[in-house]
Amino acid sequence: MGRQTQKLILSTPKSTIKTTITKTVVLQRLIVSLALAIGTALLIILTSFQSSAIPVTSASPPLKPHPLPPTLTQWQDSTNSGDYFSQVSPTQVGYLVWSQFPIRVYVEPTQAVNSKQAEDWVKNVSQAVQEWSIYLPLAIVEQPKDADITIVRKTPPLQTSPDSKMPRARSAQTTYEMYVSKNNLLSHRFTILLSPSQTGQYLLAATRHEFGHALGIWGHSPLPSDALYFSQVRNSPPISARDVNTLKRVYEQPTSLGWSVGNNS
Ligand SMILES: [Zn+2]
Repeated sequence: MGRQTQKLILSTPKSTIKTTITKTVVLQRLIVSLALAIGTALLIILTSFQSSAIPVTSASPPLKPHPLPPTLTQWQDSTNSGDYFSQVSPTQVGYLVWSQFPIRVYVEPTQAVNSKQAEDWVKNVSQAVQEWSIYLPLAIVEQPKDADITIVRKTPPLQTSPDSKMPRARSAQTTYEMYVSKNNLLSHRFTILLSPSQTGQYLLAATRHEFGHALGIWGHSPLPSDALYFSQVRNSPPISARDVNTLKRVYEQPTSLGWSVGNNS
């Protein structure tokens, strides 16, 4: 299944730029909702992923690729298993590529001190993050304000899609927003919500999948043997060679992210 809705907003205090990528443009003030929702035809929706909030200047840096991180340069797929790069969507600022390493990750600590479930939640989430660190340098940070990717133990809001009357329950949601960093680079940050009720293999799989989106795989694989398969499967696969091949291709693409924001006045 493909994308169901795709909405983009780019707003600034001075002006508003609206970009239509496929279907609709929706405008909101302040916190905006730039949504890219991907659903499936199945009853259980693994995830949808969305992006939001772009208080950036009207002059986005031109699209340019960054040097490939050494971890991906070194990656060789001896199995030649291909990729699903064609399923990955560029955004209006190009591909969602990180260029400052390590990528800083914050995992919400357990709040209920005696809760075994909460402890297991953090353990599984951290493990999935660890798995990706082979392919891109990651660092766990202690403060959410320092994070590029924040993982929160929270049930995602119900989502109502225009073509369906029933709101859909989701176990995970990944969103991003953009901002201009102190050193004037167009930057992005991700928030991943993962349901507290998810446990064990399901949570591990969901985190692995959502984190792949946050690293830049903004799309889904059509094959159930990939971590970024569009639907939840019982025996979730580890990160596959195809997942990494796709990630590597994403990082070869041009982006406005990580480049200096020009002043077009
Ligand atoms: Zn997904």
